[in-house]
Amino acid sequence: MAVPHQLVRVRHELRRRKLVVSGVESVTPRMRRIRFTSPELGDFHSSSPDDHIKLFFPLHDGASGAPVMRDFTPRTFDNAGKTLTIDFALHGSGPATEWAARAQVGQTLEIGGPKGSLVVPDDFDWYLLVGDESALPALGRRVEALRPGVPVTTVVAVANEDERQTFETRASWRPEWVVRGEPGTRDGELLRRALAGFSPPAGDGFVWIAGEAALVRELRTLFVEERGHPTDWLKAAAYWHRGEHGGSSAPGKPA
Ligand SMILES: Cc1cc2nc3c(=O)[nH]c(=O)nc-3n(C[C@H](O)[C@H](O)[C@H](O)COP(=O)(O)OP(=O)(O)OC[C@H]3O[C@@H](n4cnc5c(N)ncnc54)[C@H](O)[C@@H]3O)c2cc1C
Repeated sequence: MAVPHQLVRVRHELRRRKLVVSGVESVTPRMRRIRFTSPELGDFHSSSPDDHIKLFFPLHDGASGAPVMRDFTPRTFDNAGKTLTIDFALHGSGPATEWAARAQVGQTLEIGGPKGSLVVPDDFDWYLLVGDESALPALGRRVEALRPGVPVTTVVAVANEDERQTFETRASWRPEWVVRGEPGTRDGELLRRALAGFSPPAGDGFVWIAGEAALVRELRTLFVEERGHPTDWLKAAAYWHRGEHGGSSAPGKPA
């Protein structure tokens, strides 16, 4: 009999693909969805909602001269239609957010990966997904993919009420939004406060946390050290660092 709750690592062939922007829409005022198309997307693969791809922007880092790369989530993809969508949080300044804010149909962008996935089985009794705007694409993809009726709670910090999103799902989804204005150093504390009211359903649960690094650290400590949640049933990932430019800048190959 299969062992329950086994997270499985899957490797993918590492490829770069050249995409063309085929549509731009606003999910919310500060979340821009960009649709790409390319004959090279016929065999694009992404096994897990929180996979990431590297985006290579047509810019070079001033100091090193290396291409500017950033990590993003494949929000949706369709091999038959040869399309991929990515949701960009418009957070102000930075090569990725500025590119997304100005993107137009016909522009090109190179991507690399995903090079691997950590597949979380859909056999837990409940799911809790926590984060900020940068986590919303992966979080939404997971909510949409979960099996019918399974309880999933999401707790997300957003700038204002207009940034709340709706996901189509057959899971039993309970969203909670923490409206906090601009991202700040108190985000971890605000989310902790919201999570104080979370009582886990019966059974085994999977906890996923993503967003600004300090927030992620604080919430991981809450679940692992204070609430004793099993580390094998939790994933916490820093998606960006306050005051730092994200992504790696090694030239050439996608990481
Ligand atoms: C696995 C993974 C998946 C990700 N998926 C997505 C995704 O699907 N959509 C998405 O929008 N982001 C996603 N991110 C986060 C994204 O890679 C970072 O936000 C990245 O730093 C944005 O690059 P930039 O060029 O816009 O800004 P940068 O040049 O990296 O940073 C410029 C300034 O903006 C600040 N900053 C960076 N990101 C944010 C933010 N989100 N909010 C507020 N301030 C910020 C930095 O601290 C810095 O001061 C993901 C990150 C990882 C690791």
